[in-house]
Amino acid sequence: MLVRHILQDKGRAIIVIGHGATMGEAARLLAEKRIGAVIVTRGTDGLAGILSERDVVRAVAADGPVALDRTVSVYMTKDVATCGEADTVQDLMEMMTRGRFRHVPVLDCNEVLCGLVSIGDVVKTRIAETQNEANSLRDYISAA
Ligand code: AMP
Repeated sequence: MLVRHILQDKGRAIIVIGHGATMGEAARLLAEKRIGAVIVTRGTDGLAGILSERDVVRAVAADGPVALDRTVSVYMTKDVATCGEADTVQDLMEMMTRGRFRHVPVLDCNEVLCGLVSIGDVVKTRIAETQNEANSLRDYISAA
């Protein structure tokens, strides 16, 4: 199964926030959209960073409530690991495990942002694959 197949299933909508938005605005967006991370953009540059709920928690733990008035550019991760549509779900699982993050933006063949895959999408896909394999084995055994 490829990243492309996950995007076909879940869609290519990406929720973004400008790098000058406040952490409070980002926290509200994450809560409102029920998501765990948001892509940060700067002007016409597609991908300036990523801000996850963990960054919000760390920011408030380190700096207190004043962190919520600062811009997301202060706390976002700038060095973002991305994947391509032709990468496998296995590649993605390895990347997430190695990097200890749960979200990976997807770039198309022109290096343009075209989706975001979360660990939830990966787990859902793996469960469906495992279920299909089990069904095939069951059919094979009962036909033998
Ligand atoms: P997460 O597990 O995705 O909530 O994120 C944990 C930490 O990794 C946070 O500091 C995020 O900003 C960062 N992070 C999330 N996704 C990525 C990514 N694709 N590349 C690099 N860092 C990331």
